[in-house]
Amino acid sequence: MLTVTEARERILSYFKTTATESIPLHDSFQRVLGVDIYADGDYPPFDNSAMDGFALRAEDAAASKATLSVVADIPAGATPTVVLQTGQAARIMTGAQMPQGADCVIPVEDTDFDQRSAGTAAPEKIAFTKRMKAGENVRPRGSDIQKGELVLTRGRRLRAQDLGLLAMLGVAQICVHKKPRVALLSSGDELLEVNAPLEPGKIRDANSYSLAAGALGAGAEVIGLGIARDSRDSVMRMLDKAANENVDLILSSAGVSVGAFDFIKEALDANGRLDFWKVNMRPGKPLAFGMYRGIPLLGLPGNPVSALVGFEVFVRPTLERLSGSMDGGRQTVRVRSAEEILSDGRESYLRVRLRV
Ligand code: AMP
Ligand code: MG
Repeated sequence: MLTVTEARERILSYFKTTATESIPLHDSFQRVLGVDIYADGDYPPFDNSAMDGFALRAEDAAASKATLSVVADIPAGATPTVVLQTGQAARIMTGAQMPQGADCVIPVEDTDFDQRSAGTAAPEKIAFTKRMKAGENVRPRGSDIQKGELVLTRGRRLRAQDLGLLAMLGVAQICVHKKPRVALLSSGDELLEVNAPLEPGKIRDANSYSLAAGALGAGAEVIGLGIARDSRDSVMRMLDKAANENVDLILSSAGVSVGAFDFIKEALDANGRLDFWKVNMRPGKPLAFGMYRGIPLLGLPGNPVSALVGFEVFVRPTLERLSGSMDGGRQTVRVRSAEEILSDGRESYLRVRLRV
């Protein structure tokens, strides 16, 4: 019997990362970055104000009370032309470029001019009592990111903040790994479609939905093939469809207990091969692994819980490998059990309620 780790490594050895493609940044949420991204320049690209207030020279705010004449008004987006002299200030908005000569910004609320709303004319003079230091309330050019700096590394699954960062860097098209393509089939003569009324001896196909959702959540593209009947022809038709769809993985559920998988085995023997593995785990001991027309096929157990455990243990890592993700998959936590758990030696996957 294989250990879980041995089985997973055997499976993973059949897969390599998908090729990359260039897509619009807009479509790249949760895709896996295919290249390292370096900054093309300094960010912010210019010294700018961190406050709505007045730009000035810190040396002019050294006395206990200062009065400065306001010689310019600098809204965000403007290019200041003024060069501040001693005794002068410029009204400035958050994000606006600092004028030459100024080295700090006093917030508007620390001055005697308390009007912050847009459209209000700048005052001629301001007075305040606050002492200022050079650099105060200024975001210097390059203080977030410097030109040439590595900002995101290959293999990262892109998050919302990454998209914002990439947009700031001007990356309109981005190189990502292609989504792994997974063909999914359920098998069994007892299975009905979700919208079918129940009939004697039949149940509805749950795994097509849970496994599809799992694969989508792991960033795959899912080609749902539906339900294969327990016949060689039915299985063969589906596998051919999967092969023609150029998928990276064929995923099936049910029929992997000894002897029960004969239909898939017959189909595979014609165009590939099929192995049965016993994995030292619970649930989900039987696992089928094979090749159909050169495409790896993974057969999970049919029981809906076993199928999902098999998904977490074998399929998710496979999809991570295919997608090029270096994020390391599921997070794990070590916990203290509130009750005794006895093991028969098999690696066991139990449902728990986690209390933090
Ligand atoms: P099997 O692996 O074919 O022996 O199936 C094990 C159990 O899982 C049986 O009770 C099946 O009816 C059930 N089962 C198999 N496939 C599905 C499915 N797609 N959805 C829900 N239950 C299933
Ligand atoms: Mg069955």
